[in-house]
Amino acid sequence: MTATSHSAEPTPRTPADESRRESWTGEGDAVSVLACINAALSELRDRLPDDLLANLQDVARSASAVQARSSLQSSGLVASQADAIVRSAEMIEELERTRCELERAHQTAEQTAQDTELLANTIFERTCSALFVLKERACIACNRNALRLFGVSRDEVIGQYPGFLFTADPRGEDAPGAIFGYEAAMLHGHFCEESIRRRKNGEVFWCEITLSAFRVRGQDHLLAVVKDITRRKQVEEQLRLFAGVFDNIQEGVAILDRRGIIREANPAFERVSGRPPEEITDRPLQEVVNWSFEDLPRVLESVIAGEPWAGRMRIGDPCRRPKSFLVSFSPSLDARGDGSVIALFSDVTRIERTQRRLRRQVLHDPLTGLPNRRYCREQIQCLIQHSADAGSAFAVCFLDLDDFKHVNDSLGHKAGDQLLQIVARRLKKAVSQGVFVARFGGDEFAILIPDIDPLRIRIAEVADAVLKSLRRPFRLAGTQAFVGISMGVTIYPTHAGNVDTLLQNADVAMYSAKDSGKNQVCIFSDDLRAVAEDRHHTQSALRRALGDNQISIEYQPQVWTTTGRLAGCEALARWRNSAGQIISPTKFIPIAEQTGLITALGDFVLATTCRQAVAWRLAGCLPDRVAINLSPRQLRHPRFVERMEEILAETGVRPEWLELEITENAVMEDVQQSMRVMDRLAAMGIRLAIDDFGTGYSSLSYLKSFNIHCLKIDKSFVSDLPDDESALAIARSIVSLAKGRGLSVVAEGVETSPQYECLMEMGCDLIQGFIVSQPLTPAAFEAWSKDQPFSGALRFPVGNSSPFSFS
Ligand code: C2E
Ligand code: CA
Ligand code: CA
Repeated sequence: MTATSHSAEPTPRTPADESRRESWTGEGDAVSVLACINAALSELRDRLPDDLLANLQDVARSASAVQARSSLQSSGLVASQADAIVRSAEMIEELERTRCELERAHQTAEQTAQDTELLANTIFERTCSALFVLKERACIACNRNALRLFGVSRDEVIGQYPGFLFTADPRGEDAPGAIFGYEAAMLHGHFCEESIRRRKNGEVFWCEITLSAFRVRGQDHLLAVVKDITRRKQVEEQLRLFAGVFDNIQEGVAILDRRGIIREANPAFERVSGRPPEEITDRPLQEVVNWSFEDLPRVLESVIAGEPWAGRMRIGDPCRRPKSFLVSFSPSLDARGDGSVIALFSDVTRIERTQRRLRRQVLHDPLTGLPNRRYCREQIQCLIQHSADAGSAFAVCFLDLDDFKHVNDSLGHKAGDQLLQIVARRLKKAVSQGVFVARFGGDEFAILIPDIDPLRIRIAEVADAVLKSLRRPFRLAGTQAFVGISMGVTIYPTHAGNVDTLLQNADVAMYSAKDSGKNQVCIFSDDLRAVAEDRHHTQSALRRALGDNQISIEYQPQVWTTTGRLAGCEALARWRNSAGQIISPTKFIPIAEQTGLITALGDFVLATTCRQAVAWRLAGCLPDRVAINLSPRQLRHPRFVERMEEILAETGVRPEWLELEITENAVMEDVQQSMRVMDRLAAMGIRLAIDDFGTGYSSLSYLKSFNIHCLKIDKSFVSDLPDDESALAIARSIVSLAKGRGLSVVAEGVETSPQYECLMEMGCDLIQGFIVSQPLTPAAFEAWSKDQPFSGALRFPVGNSSPFSFS
């Protein structure tokens, strides 16, 4: 063994090496014996006379001593001389033999010593550990692993005190704590520790250090074996971490063998199963969690084959409330390398409860507790799938209360809500199990009748029960109220194959039921399909029409009844489609209203009319004011007033030039909100008129609180004048109501002189109708206003008697 050797090969020996080698092998004795023999032989030879020495050759050649002696005697030597020669020869021969043997032994010993050294060197260098040999606290030998591990050079170590072996703190290498290991090993012969050490570059690592003391020729030595155990420590750390996770994780974890026997489980699993540890390990999972999952053996096999599995299960027994768990099985290997399964149980009871609550909130109507539109749509989708598979049919019924607004307006919102709740309860009661009842919003309900053969009879039964259930009076706000219901029915797959079309059909059928006199049931038909398709077609065409400049505006004059002079006009939207056909606003306005297109359309009418009013004013042309129709949806738009302000600013129109016509029913949809908007518009200086007055359900008491300037008598009353008594009475009372409230009155749809005269007699301020003029294009209107050809039944010459001042 050499302190500074780099290779396993023997290196040239130093005197120190020689002495060490001698002390280890004991071969020094053989050498000295050999030297003695050689000395004895040469002395023996020196002492023999030359003639004797020459004779020794003959003795050596003789086969035996007797033969040698006799041959010497025959050559003339006396017997004693012959004996002496023979003895000398024998002695020399003996010595020579001994020398040969000794030399052989010496060679063998030397070979063995070389082998031992080679072996020691090899072990020293080839061992995986870092080795240091210390003598009196100085390192006298170390291997290359040692240099590599600590990142030091041989010169920095050999002959030095390797303090880095005993502490990771480079400043405290001599501290008592640091040399404790050294002292302990010297005292007890052995010391071992696992500790952190530092490389020269500052990097730290985990190592296992074994210190062994030994003595060589009476001197104390220390062998330090250092093993880098950083990787092992990392693995241990990881295992500790995993164990911590295993013990503290909220999820229950059980490790199963391929037969589903629980081999290990964490504390959370005890909560999952509700059992103590001794009732868990080495028992089948199904028994422990009381889970009858027949497919488990097959599932476990496929999990072990590498296919993870996940599912939901409920765990509970008579003593505990069942809980929902998300269970997942993942493949793993156990210590023996056998396939095992990690089963993870996550308690999702609370999440499910929250989900259910949220779903309930999202899918139910808070007022009646019935499923809402969204839920109903989902349900229809499910029924479609089911019926498509089963080849069956089902019915979608759309219901709308008749005269609900009347109840709402006359008895108040609270009573209206109460009515809806009672209706919901009665509907649920009227239909049998398995029939789905939903509220779509407002006074709209839906009923889904699943396929119970024959479907048409079922529909008739349900319709009958529904109508009957609502026939009884409702006790509301201390009075009795009656409401009817209009019901439209469509059948899957006869009438449609998707949710939207089914709902659209039911809606069309419902409107048809309403049209034919309320409290009716109407089943969708091909005729109605044509209506629905036409509506659908109109809807898409209208969308394009707005962008393609197909919408224009005509203006219908309004004149003073007494003078026949132009007072104002009403802006009426016109749609000439791509084929050049004129489509009536009575057709496209309701569709625009339903589809939301009315916002854009209404905006267009407002802006165009305002620009026109400004242009006429600049040209010095009448009319004094322009009336514009507002749809209910426009009125309810949260930014309507702001938009109106923007239009005033953009076009430069004066607010007092404008009159907005709002239908009675639009106002009544949400009285409070309408009132707020009307107040703001009136505050801006815009006049407001109630359109189609007399056709709605407004209670006259409301009229007082509305900030309005004008009432328009609907043409349905005007057309029955002057002969129809009730039309006459209504027209009269509208005029007197308006007068009493200081409002002006416009009669619209005046076609004949008797109508006109009758209205004039009543004191109606203004008239509008074909008797005056058809709605006119802007150019035609300008021309008309110059002539003002209408003279009506004028008995007096007219002047420009407009009460509206130009400001
Ligand atoms: P409305 O507001 O009641 O408009 C009066 C309707 O009666 C107009 O029909 C007009 O052309 C018609 N009319 C006028 N004088 C006579 C007459 O002497 N006899 C008869 N039989 N009819 C007469 P139009 O233009 O077809 O408008 C129908 C409805 O469409 C309007 O009824 C209004 O509710 C709506 N509408 C029209 N333009 C717009 C608009 O720009 N916005 C909104 N929201 N609705 C509009
Ligand atoms: Ca109108
Ligand atoms: Ca009208």
